Amino acid sequence: MGLTVTGAVLDGETVGVRCEDGRIAAIGPGVEAAPGDEAIAAGAAPLVAPLLNGHTHAAMTLFRGSGGDLPLMPWLEERIWPVEAKLDDEDVYWGARLACAEMVRTGTTRFWDMYWHPEATARAVADAGIAATVGAPLFDHDGNGEGMRERALASLDHLAELGPAIAPALAPHSIYTVSEDSLRWIATLSAEREVPIHIHLAETEREVADCVAAHGLRPAAYLDSLGALGERTVLAHGVWLDRAELELIAARGCTVVTNPVANMKLAVGGVFPYPAARAAGVAVGLGSDGAGSNDSLDLLADLKAFALAQKHAAASPAAIAAGEAWAVATGAQAPLLGGGERLTVGAPADFLLLRPDAPELGIGELASNLVYAASGAVVDTTVAAGRVLMRGGELPGMDGIVARARERARRLGLA
Ligand SMILES: [Zn+2]
Repeated sequence: MGLTVTGAVLDGETVGVRCEDGRIAAIGPGVEAAPGDEAIAAGAAPLVAPLLNGHTHAAMTLFRGSGGDLPLMPWLEERIWPVEAKLDDEDVYWGARLACAEMVRTGTTRFWDMYWHPEATARAVADAGIAATVGAPLFDHDGNGEGMRERALASLDHLAELGPAIAPALAPHSIYTVSEDSLRWIATLSAEREVPIHIHLAETEREVADCVAAHGLRPAAYLDSLGALGERTVLAHGVWLDRAELELIAARGCTVVTNPVANMKLAVGGVFPYPAARAAGVAVGLGSDGAGSNDSLDLLADLKAFALAQKHAAASPAAIAAGEAWAVATGAQAPLLGGGERLTVGAPADFLLLRPDAPELGIGELASNLVYAASGAVVDTTVAAGRVLMRGGELPGMDGIVARARERARRLGLA
């Protein structure tokens, strides 16, 4: 028994999709439902790949609306870290459930997360029916490197047991909150266990200046000197990477995830140099960052900001084409992130049906409309691993999830 969608439109052609065991078993004109299949008549809805959120802190939905218009460091030190010290498993679970609900509603079915109580996030992801690469944030700027290492090892073991939808990662917060020794230890562990490293890098100009002052190297070269740049490394932000760093990152096979809306909201003063990254051959994905600093998880909205920021910074409307921006948002330009597979037989049965009556999509090229006209509101149906998570824009259980997340935010003095 599988799921069959008929009457969808893919690249201008009317097609059906049959899904079995979480994968696409058949796709194309004339594909029909098998006896016993769950059947969806798409009514000429456009069929597209889902979005992939390459960097977020899902449970930070609890912090939404309490950013206080502060710069990055005071925001972290005054608003975020003191409250995070009080978080428990249930807070993170419901914050992450809320995030997953928003992602499903707006067409994201896979994300990369870095947050406290990662097992609670993983549980929320599994209960929501989507997939994530999850890591506990690692810090040792409190001087407790030993405690950090124990936490890292324990979380890798726990996360490895949580099923196929959850991939574990090591998530050192940044080069300014994790010591040189610990970063070297993380790099070795990543290689031994074959798990990714997910780290914030080159987010602010001050981070670069401090890194050069402390180590005589710019951030990417510093990480490379510790063995932490490799094919399993995901660098979030990269706003201040220079050309030599981008070439180094490309040579090492790392992935950079740009978070344009969070960067603009926290006013980091620069734009990730996408054209130079592309020229160097860097794998690039798109992220929202946490709802504490965005505040939305609607990646279609962030996609517009990404494309506009690139055009504006380059003073050229040709800086990025709509189809290329869309490919970045689905993960097609960054294989490590785990999305972006073409909708073909054998690929994971992850896809979206867009509202056939959406005014934003009625006229003109689909890729251009998705980047510049659409928001997550155009998503009608979300399918992940062959399961229908949302149909007709209605997500089952949404009211309960919002209510429980609000209760947890109140407990923390945030709502
Ligand atoms: Zn972040």
